Amino acid sequence: MSSIRDIQEALAAGRSCCEIATQALKRAQADTTNAVVRIHQQLALEQAAVVDARRAAGEQRPLDGVPVLIKDNLCLQGVEVSAASRILAGWHPPYTATAVSRLIDAGAVVIGTANMDEFAFGSSNETSAHGPVANPHDPTRIPGGSSGGSAAGVASGIVPLALGSDTGGSIRQPAALCGCVGLKPSYGRISRYGLIAFGSSLDQIGPLSSSVADTALALQVMAGADANDATCSQRPSNECLASAADLAGLRIGWVPEHDRDCAPAVQQRLHELRQALAENGAELVEISLPHERFAVATYYIIATGEASSNLNRFDGVHYGQRAEGCSNLAELYRQSRSQGFGAEAKRRIMLGTYVLSAGYYDAYYKRAMQVRSLIIEDFQRAFASCDLLLGPTSPSVAFRRGEKSDPLSMYLSDVFTIAANLAGLPALSLPIGSDEQGLPIGAHLQAPQWQDGRLLSAAAAIEKVCQGW
Ligand code: GLN
Repeated sequence: MSSIRDIQEALAAGRSCCEIATQALKRAQADTTNAVVRIHQQLALEQAAVVDARRAAGEQRPLDGVPVLIKDNLCLQGVEVSAASRILAGWHPPYTATAVSRLIDAGAVVIGTANMDEFAFGSSNETSAHGPVANPHDPTRIPGGSSGGSAAGVASGIVPLALGSDTGGSIRQPAALCGCVGLKPSYGRISRYGLIAFGSSLDQIGPLSSSVADTALALQVMAGADANDATCSQRPSNECLASAADLAGLRIGWVPEHDRDCAPAVQQRLHELRQALAENGAELVEISLPHERFAVATYYIIATGEASSNLNRFDGVHYGQRAEGCSNLAELYRQSRSQGFGAEAKRRIMLGTYVLSAGYYDAYYKRAMQVRSLIIEDFQRAFASCDLLLGPTSPSVAFRRGEKSDPLSMYLSDVFTIAANLAGLPALSLPIGSDEQGLPIGAHLQAPQWQDGRLLSAAAAIEKVCQGW
């Protein structure tokens, strides 16, 4: 893996952004993991030339020359964006996502588009219309999902920074399984303008990178108010600054039952981490989150309901693929959607339509929203006695491609990450070593909403503790 600092050093040593971009483009071309679905050769070199010219005129910016990959659900004017779905094949968005344009304004160079699960539905990148992605640590295994291409692209050193989106764990779980740092900011911290919507009350864009410092820098660049997204907060982005916190006296909560649900190697690493943190003066506090066990069920009602409504717009008329030879409009919709969506997208549309339909709305959606409130209250109670929560990101290391064939076992990959989306919390996955086969393990950190700065500062301190693990 490379870092933003590596790029800064290369620039300081006299390399140009165009040279740096050319090298990253070559790495993307040579990639064997299928992490990159489109390489933006011309666009990248144009962006890099702009940055070189600005620097030659004496103006430097924080992400100058940093090659990035963006997930295939983030709009970028001038290139195809398909959310890894056949239904959007060939679609060119007429505008650029705010998060992406802020990266570009800060000097970053978009070298390609990262693979993902179709419409971000999945935890393994196996539902992609572009085909699966291999985990760089073991090509027979999945990289996690849905931001699987973003995580694999960073882990294999193609780019130091990639953007993903996280509705129930889609940044943090692949970060954990590929051994990088992945952040889901507080809901409302980064504008969702230009993100192809999955669950609008849950979705957040966030960075994947090789360190907490790079993560914090990317967040600062992207955070802040946006007139194009009314759910994006006015809070200043300098709240996201991170200098390593003092571990002495830091109250770190953990939920003992989480260990029970994890593979032995994950349990072991977390146990060692807690010990190391205690030795460094942190206070470890046992916490109970009584309603967390309902999080997966609650999420799959709310997220599918919102997805079914968001995916209504893909009807073969407004966007993307249109079925041929249909005799009337209803037939055109039916055929376009039947041909365009993959199996998991269809499952979610049906589930979501069901839970929102008259007669079932109160029993499912409304009830799920009530449980969501209970989950939020659990966290509020927990954060009265600790500063942040520490646990596993994923119950296991990366599993084999094809291993989880029933949807429920796949959905359970996200048991630890989903509650943060339901509660709008900032949450991050940090590499804490690997199992005996060398497969990465991630620790999950969560902080109260808007405490992204606290989360990153604590993560920076913990990162130092497990350096070299
Ligand atoms: N894996 C979860 C799902 O399938 C989360 C996906 C996401 O965060 N986009 O819904």
